[in-house]
Amino acid sequence: VAKDAGKRTYRMFAPQMDDKVSEYIWLDRNLRKALDLDQLELYYQPKLCLETGVVRSVEALLRWDSPERGRISPIDFIKFAEDSGLIVPLGKWVMRTAAKQAASWLASGLNIRVAINVSARQLSNSFVVQDFAQAIRESGHASCLLDIELTESCLIEDEAMALAAIRQFRELGAQIHLDDFGTGYSSLSQVARLPLDMIKLDRSFVSAINEKPTSQALVRSMVAVAEQLKIQVVAEGVETDAEAEFLKSIGVDYAQGYLYARPMPAKEFADWLNNKGKKLRLVA
Ligand code: C2E
Ligand code: MG
Ligand code: MG
Ligand code: MG
Repeated sequence: VAKDAGKRTYRMFAPQMDDKVSEYIWLDRNLRKALDLDQLELYYQPKLCLETGVVRSVEALLRWDSPERGRISPIDFIKFAEDSGLIVPLGKWVMRTAAKQAASWLASGLNIRVAINVSARQLSNSFVVQDFAQAIRESGHASCLLDIELTESCLIEDEAMALAAIRQFRELGAQIHLDDFGTGYSSLSQVARLPLDMIKLDRSFVSAINEKPTSQALVRSMVAVAEQLKIQVVAEGVETDAEAEFLKSIGVDYAQGYLYARPMPAKEFADWLNNKGKKLRLVA
């Protein structure tokens, strides 16, 4: 197409290519540095039991504070890290940091599991299970306090490989949660073949619950399938009481979202948990 359109297209296209290349170079240099210089942090966002309001787990979400650019969202660097392979050392750092945090919470009397996000590129690394086992060993706590959120694309790319990794993670004591459920292309039959503990309904369905009548039907049927398969359900991105009300009424087990708490640093999480009773608007 560019050839047909001639020089003009070339001139319009080239600067964008340059931008992209220099952005990748910047990310590569600085993300490596961030790993070495401790400019990364995990934030934690709680998941609540809709029935009881009890919090037994949090999701760990990466935050990068660049001295040059300030806070950079994972949306802007995870994809790059996957392409460049940096996701492997990055993921290792996430595992070790999350495992240490969970062990330290437990030592202070907080029994909280931590779910980490793992992407397809990480699963295809043959050391990922070893790295995970090592992170648990080093954490100072004997049993596994980590769970794993896999995105749907992990499963489609190579189901045999995903299944092998899932089995080994579970043997080590991790639960497997399927992230962003409903947005990918994995078939329900594929979900039925894999040993999953939980599906995580994507935020796009949750936020459409009270806007599009078809969304309610969709969410209802996803929850019904999960129930049949004996897989638990957590809804992500819950922002309103009405959403929480509906999700609870159709049998969703857990909820996570700004309605309850934003992702926060580890220290804040302990305070949040202590004040939860006062602050939180729980569904009756
Ligand atoms: P995700 O795993 O689906 O995480 C949910 C995202 O939604 C998070 O964005 C979270 O901050 C945001 N969120 C939570 N509740 C609400 C809500 O009520 N409303 C709205 N509007 N948003 C909400 P975040 O932290 O920017 O992370 C984006 C994505 O980056 C994650 O999506 C995950 O796929 C990826 N990611 C983050 N940390 C890691 C990591 O350590 N490793 C890998 N491989 N991926 C990560
Ligand atoms: Mg997630
Ligand atoms: Mg998600
Ligand atoms: Mg999501």
